[in-house]
Amino acid sequence: MSAFDRVGFSLFSLAILAAAGVSVLFSDRLPIGALLIFAHFFFFIAAALSAQFGRLNPLYALLPIWVVGAALTDSFAFFDIRVEPAAAELLRVVAWYIAPLNFAVFTWLEERSFFSVSSLARITAIALELCVIALIAFSAAAPNAYDALATELFSPPLALAGVPQIALIVVLLAAIALIVKIFIERQNTLETAMFFALLGALAALYFYPDRGAQIVFLLASAAIIAAGFTRLAYKLAYYDELTGALGRRALFEALHKLSGRYAIAMVDIDHFKLFNDRYGHDAGDQALKMVATKLALTRGGAKVYRYGGEEFTIIFNGKNKKEAAPYLEEAREAVEGSPFIKRSAKRPKAKLKNYRKVRGANDDYERITVTISIGASDGENGGTQNEVIKAADRALYRAKEQGRNRVVVS
Ligand code: GH3
Ligand code: MG
Ligand code: MG
Repeated sequence: MSAFDRVGFSLFSLAILAAAGVSVLFSDRLPIGALLIFAHFFFFIAAALSAQFGRLNPLYALLPIWVVGAALTDSFAFFDIRVEPAAAELLRVVAWYIAPLNFAVFTWLEERSFFSVSSLARITAIALELCVIALIAFSAAAPNAYDALATELFSPPLALAGVPQIALIVVLLAAIALIVKIFIERQNTLETAMFFALLGALAALYFYPDRGAQIVFLLASAAIIAAGFTRLAYKLAYYDELTGALGRRALFEALHKLSGRYAIAMVDIDHFKLFNDRYGHDAGDQALKMVATKLALTRGGAKVYRYGGEEFTIIFNGKNKKEAAPYLEEAREAVEGSPFIKRSAKRPKAKLKNYRKVRGANDDYERITVTISIGASDGENGGTQNEVIKAADRALYRAKEQGRNRVVVS
């Protein structure tokens, strides 16, 4: 699920960047004034969402590059502030360094409360960057720095025109840092957004002094961050945090839309209270995740939801209970066939009948078999979705009565 989501949001971000790229072909005909307003507008949306979610790192990463972008696109002309071409050129080169560094650092830093020493340090760092940017913009900072920052290491065709070559190495390292972070985080929507927003910001720098192209890519960059927050909000609302499965809200909406032929199954982990008592709540959570992962692989067009606690609901749209039963049986077997490895507790607190404990060569670890019981029903007798759920629940109860670890279709 997580990987699929990452791919989905990446494709979406790429589409935004591609759209920006296409519009650059017509940059002399773009409505620049309107786009500039949009770009700043999207930046404010991204900033407001950052604040609202208490996820300030994307804002910190975006802010300096945004100020540089505003300077390079002459946005401050409104306040009668203009940046001389030589200063703008130095600003552009400096931005090639600070953009990747900011994005990499602020993607890796843990979020902290706004009123903390750590936040104070971050804000100070950003403020210093802004001071350097301002000094350069007003041509007060050493213009000789330009030669050092724009040092050429390799020659064409390896060299990209206008791109400082040492900065290119920084960009590469930052991109790797961002990608690694995306892959180690389970909830990685914002990290993915940061990666593509950085690409957008760098594209804006690359196209300097084409003002239209810069504005379009800055717009894309801010829009990707804003879209990342929207996507995050959607996921927080519809997905269960612990298991990554769809949650109760998603289930109710899906139930509402069901009609015609469909089957609903209720799934419940066997003796889960005992599992928690014996191995602890954290191990219980791990087992719950394992079950969710196995259930998510159920074939036959199954859609899996966490109903609550250790119960899941599976919907088969377009299948009746007889057609769904073999897939449910497969799911039950898949869970039973995935032993859960847990460090042994020194003294067993309770004896478990239903957890077959297999002791291997290493006595420190136990292989615990977790099982599930499933009850299924369908809408063939014309009941409402709620009645079908209730019938599935009754079937589940019978599965428990008949000894658990089985599928009962009512
Ligand atoms: P049965 O086979 O009859 O279903 O027995 P059971 O013990 O699984 O049933 P019961 O409904 O009595 O207990 C459910 C337990 O599931 C209670 C609670 O400790 C545990 N549980 C519910 N949600 C979570 C969770 O999110 N994490 C963990 N670790 N345990 C949970
Ligand atoms: Mg239960
Ligand atoms: Mg149970």
